[in-house]
Amino acid sequence: ELPTVAIVGRPNVGKSTLFNRLVGRKLALVDDRPGVTRDRREGDVAFGGLKFRVIDTAGLEDAAADSLTGRMRLQTEAAIVESDVVLFVIDARAGILPADRPFAEMVRRSGCPVILIANKAEGRDGLTGAYDAFSLGLGDPIPFSAEHGEGVGELHSALQEVL
Ligand code: GDP
Ligand code: MG
Repeated sequence: ELPTVAIVGRPNVGKSTLFNRLVGRKLALVDDRPGVTRDRREGDVAFGGLKFRVIDTAGLEDAAADSLTGRMRLQTEAAIVESDVVLFVIDARAGILPADRPFAEMVRRSGCPVILIANKAEGRDGLTGAYDAFSLGLGDPIPFSAEHGEGVGELHSALQEVL
């Protein structure tokens, strides 16, 4: 039985892009509209000697970006419960928004180990948001770019410590 990693965060932070990068196939639907992933997706990952199952948690296609519907909450909580570690993703360009907080609270309450990913941090764009991310109380953020593959080495080291 493979260890399980859940990707959690508000819609549009880049969870599905990260999922696709880890799985190496376009299994998750990436879209410019917030929360377009309809169902949760899972994939098996071989990542520099680590093997795990990854879960991409969905947003809802018709949910406002700043709303946390019951279905979204249930789906996220179910994924966290099954997982050995959570990758909590924020948008480093946007900084921390109110919509990030209920997801962060779910992760914190679960007691599950968490790795904080400050995504969209390619170039220098994510520096402010990455500093902001300390305020979530989920540890040191890893500046990351799921689209450009930056921060992958740091993520690997962080996963190696918990898996
Ligand atoms: P999700 O709703 O959290 O699953 O987010 P998606 O993976 O669907 O991505 C939402 C948007 O952010 C899409 O337009 C992506 O192309 C974009 N995106 C994802 N990762 C990055 C990144 O590393 N840098 C930038 N600039 N955009 C990204
Ligand atoms: Mg998605």
